[in-house]
Amino acid sequence: MKVTILGSGTSQGVPIVGCKCPGCTSKNPKDKRLRVSVYIETDIKLNDKPLRILIDTSPDFRQQMLVNNITDIDAVLYTHYHVDHIMGLDDIRQINQLQKKHVELYANRETAQRIRQTFSYIFDENTYKGGGIPVVDLHEIDLEPFDVIGQKVIPLQYMHGPTIVYGFRLCDFAYMTDCNFIPETEYEKLKGLKVLVIDALRYRKHETHFSIEEAIEAAQKINAKQTYFTHMTHDIVHDEANKKLPTHIEFAYDGLKFEI
Ligand SMILES: [Zn+2]
Ligand SMILES: [Zn+2]
Ligand SMILES: [Zn+2]
Repeated sequence: MKVTILGSGTSQGVPIVGCKCPGCTSKNPKDKRLRVSVYIETDIKLNDKPLRILIDTSPDFRQQMLVNNITDIDAVLYTHYHVDHIMGLDDIRQINQLQKKHVELYANRETAQRIRQTFSYIFDENTYKGGGIPVVDLHEIDLEPFDVIGQKVIPLQYMHGPTIVYGFRLCDFAYMTDCNFIPETEYEKLKGLKVLVIDALRYRKHETHFSIEEAIEAAQKINAKQTYFTHMTHDIVHDEANKKLPTHIEFAYDGLKFEI
């Protein structure tokens, strides 16, 4: 499968509006971070094309589709309901129009409820007149492995401060954004990974995200062949920060692609 990092930035994005710090004023494209999301072209074939799965619809989703020439998505997996992970949902309309099909959405019960509230116009046809609405099917998932149009997905559950977040394992790839505590049961599900993408916010500790030091500790315990950090703030200046990481761990950046 092929994975593209569509966004690697924290909820404000990088640069932060009005900030003049070294990260925000860096000329390196790797220091321009849209809000977090990944795009997966799986090995499953659907009408002779790869089954395509998006994780989260960030507020930058439209921009991410333009930059990466994305014109097809079959399903979206939601990690949690925070606005930096859901607010781009309306832009699924363009996929509906281009591909003449609806898009399957998967979320745990709480996230699904919040999506129905936040985007009530999508789920209650009587509330919105005279504009296009996304055509989607929202499926509630729990901790049981589930099938996305032929692709097996193993949900991972962990904490993000007080919020429960779902990560996802597809074959030997796992995605775990917005995380500051992983229960022992979930480490069991993470054995034998080729690539892990995991939250690593900044150097200083934070109440709801792993710091770099905490993320290194979790990554080394999970022991994927390669780990990429995501959801970074402007404190991370990519090239110099990357040099300080242990082997097999790197900071992701927008547009990073890898095959598994
Ligand atoms: Zn987030
Ligand atoms: Zn800054
Ligand atoms: Zn969050």
